[in-house]
Amino acid sequence: MALDLATLALVVVLVNGIAGSAVMYAGRREGTANGLWLWGAALLVNGLQPLAFGFRFAGPQVPSIALSNALAALVLVLQWKAVARVRLDIVRAPGRLGTVLIPLSAGTAAVLLVRVEYVRNAFGSAVFCALAMAVLVATLRATSTDGHRTRGQQLVAIGTLLLIGVFLWRLFALLSALVGVATEAEVNAIHAGTYFGTLGTMLLQTLGIVLWHKELAVNQQHDLATHDALTGCLNRRALLEECARLLRAETRRARLFAILLFDLDYFKAVNDVYGHLAGDAVLREVANRLCAQLREGDRLARFGGEEFVMLVDDTSEAGALALADRLRASVADAPVVYDGRSIAITVSIGVYVASGHDPLPTIDDMLSASDRALYVAKARGRNCVELASP
Ligand code: GH3
Ligand code: MG
Ligand code: MG
Repeated sequence: MALDLATLALVVVLVNGIAGSAVMYAGRREGTANGLWLWGAALLVNGLQPLAFGFRFAGPQVPSIALSNALAALVLVLQWKAVARVRLDIVRAPGRLGTVLIPLSAGTAAVLLVRVEYVRNAFGSAVFCALAMAVLVATLRATSTDGHRTRGQQLVAIGTLLLIGVFLWRLFALLSALVGVATEAEVNAIHAGTYFGTLGTMLLQTLGIVLWHKELAVNQQHDLATHDALTGCLNRRALLEECARLLRAETRRARLFAILLFDLDYFKAVNDVYGHLAGDAVLREVANRLCAQLREGDRLARFGGEEFVMLVDDTSEAGALALADRLRASVADAPVVYDGRSIAITVSIGVYVASGHDPLPTIDDMLSASDRALYVAKARGRNCVELASP
């Protein structure tokens, strides 16, 4: 079946125009420099490419060749910049100069090779292939901070890989046309195949990037809903969910886990003497010191104003008490320095260890037990650890 080049070109203009406008419109909400907006711009530029290609049939060849090669390179540069936006801190992408120079060089090289059509097209394919590889590397490197790749991101990577495949196919098809004698119909088939292939891969990439951005937004909302804004620890709601998860696992694994309830001593006086901002800095520093001792599977949450809760998985009574005392000492041993002033801080800790109860206690029972232990610690003079009685 022969693909009709002119019809395909129209479809490329239409699909890229519609998809590009829609993606740019959706991305515009976050300003003009975000990944979605840039991706939409890449699609629009891609939609212009067949028009630039078509000019050569109506007028002089050279501007058409220069423009269509420059636009094809610009599409890939914009894609590269768009995926890098997700993690600008770790993924490199062309700046303004590169965005101008790369397409300009591609256009200029095409003009220099204007008389040798196959060499020019093969050279262009190799350049586009290299740029698409840069898009792929940037996509794969833009992992979330915990090293995960989202499904949308995977789709962008697969689409980009297929795009590289299209450029490689074009490169080899042109190279074999170069050694043999290709008819005009065969050359048209190569152009049509490229349009057809890039249209499909770009649709896949575009679905991927939209999904990727949706997943990023959902993850961001989830982080906001589960973390405390001041200290970055889990918040109360997330802690209760983690508790429920551990309780369910406890019934299966028969392992012990502990709840450590921390309350800063005389914290009101810190606010009164040093000010509320100093109090906030103390809360952040205490959270950092407690966090530094977390093992994989353990969780730290800010439970209320100056109260923290640590869930310690797979521990023993002696282990939980030793950990609690190390944490108490890590807070008491060095003052928090804020604004050049040293603020001495201590913490009291109530420890509850879940231990093969039958039936298992509820979360409220466990928190109440650690709270009672905490009050005993406060009554004993503070800066100490107390184990909850069963
Ligand atoms: P105790 O040793 O008995 O626990 O005494 P305390 O002063 O720590 O206890 P109290 O419950 O009287 O005071 C807790 C203080 O924590 C009062 C409140 O202003 C302060 N606080 C709660 N949340 C925040 C916060 O986000 N930032 C700051 N700076 N202070 C907070
Ligand atoms: Mg308190
Ligand atoms: Mg307190």
